[in-house]
Amino acid sequence: MTVSSDPLTPDIGARRPFDIAAIRRDFPILRRRIEGEPLVYLDSAASSQRPVQVLAELTRFYRDHNANVHRGVHTLSVEATELYEGVREKVRALIGGASEREIIFTSGTTASINLVAHGWARARLGPGDEVVISEIEHHSNIVPWQMLRDDRGVVLRVIPMSPDGTLDLDAARAVIGPRTRLLAITQVSNALGTVVPVRELADLAHDAGALVLVDGAQSVPHMPVDVNELGADLLAFSAHKMLGPTGVGVLWGRMEVLESMRPLMGGGDMILTVSLERSTWNEIPHRFEAGTPNFADVVAFGTAIDYLRALGLDAVRRHELDLIDHGLAVLGDVPGLTLHGPRDAHRRGGVFSFSLEGVHPHDVGQLLNSQGVAVRAGHHCAQPVMESLGVAATTRASVYLYNTRSELDALSEALRRTARFFGDAGS
Ligand code: PLP
Repeated sequence: MTVSSDPLTPDIGARRPFDIAAIRRDFPILRRRIEGEPLVYLDSAASSQRPVQVLAELTRFYRDHNANVHRGVHTLSVEATELYEGVREKVRALIGGASEREIIFTSGTTASINLVAHGWARARLGPGDEVVISEIEHHSNIVPWQMLRDDRGVVLRVIPMSPDGTLDLDAARAVIGPRTRLLAITQVSNALGTVVPVRELADLAHDAGALVLVDGAQSVPHMPVDVNELGADLLAFSAHKMLGPTGVGVLWGRMEVLESMRPLMGGGDMILTVSLERSTWNEIPHRFEAGTPNFADVVAFGTAIDYLRALGLDAVRRHELDLIDHGLAVLGDVPGLTLHGPRDAHRRGGVFSFSLEGVHPHDVGQLLNSQGVAVRAGHHCAQPVMESLGVAATTRASVYLYNTRSELDALSEALRRTARFFGDAGS
């Protein structure tokens, strides 16, 4: 099969070494103006922007190869199937799995975690068995376990966060114990940016005989993640936070864990045989992908992975660490601003969550938007973090590979103007 390349789409390979000007040219949306000001997009923790290469791949797939996958004997279906299935290997290579068969496509991190909660844990855990999470989890790594607790009598235990938003290993040791069956833990907090020492926690969990599910929604897009180094048994992440389309996610699992997991949904494609009496399951991973998968978006996700790997996730992390250092400095100078989360850049992902004295986070967000700066305001689907900080909400600026130091300067300037505006309004 030949997949013709589009002469108007810049070659991904040409982005190495990390060329920020060339990278930014790949993201046409960054040229937009908002309220008459150049867009400063600082909301990538919620969803990243997509480069032209990913947009072009989506169009090319629909234009040249589109047909339903797996069952067809005709050329288009065979091509579509090859393209779809080929992305499993790209994902495997990205995260260091043992086989592309360990890659399950879902609709996102939330769906991946729910698949583990209701496909693996529901059948295998009962009263007295413990699932350990932390206080800094996203709601999608809290609520499924609460459902399990309420339905199955599973005990939910929580590693508390320290005041600076980090997880204390001694506190973890007090929570992880002989009854722990699963540690479900984020690698990077979306609300605070905390980088969690997953390996150390995974070792504790494994010593207790438990499995480890890592929420990689905020780590896989931003830094090298290797499931073996991490000590993960299961890993969940979302394409839309890593240059890919919406509606695609991944659950990676070690094969023996996936073999002990039940499919959550029944239907086409996930079966080997069906009679009116009974059905038998297809092989892994197909048994977990009932119905027509989101094949076009998965194919374009493959291009997003190509893009990230061409840059190198180590280079992405280096770029973000530079931005984090700079962000800590310029935000530290804004009068009345309290920055939440760890002080040390190396213990942070590219997330700045802050409060501005006397101004509601939503007002901060709106005033920033009027100056072209796109940030998020709210509880960031992490209400327990907000409760621990003693606030209802924060304003969150988050960076990615296309952001620059001068955009963080623009944020800092816009915040000063915002503080002055509300200071003047209050005086
Ligand atoms: N986990 C973390 C740490 C996240 O940041 C998010 C999204 O913000 C999710 C899980 C949920 O991801 P999705 O909404 O793509 O399922």
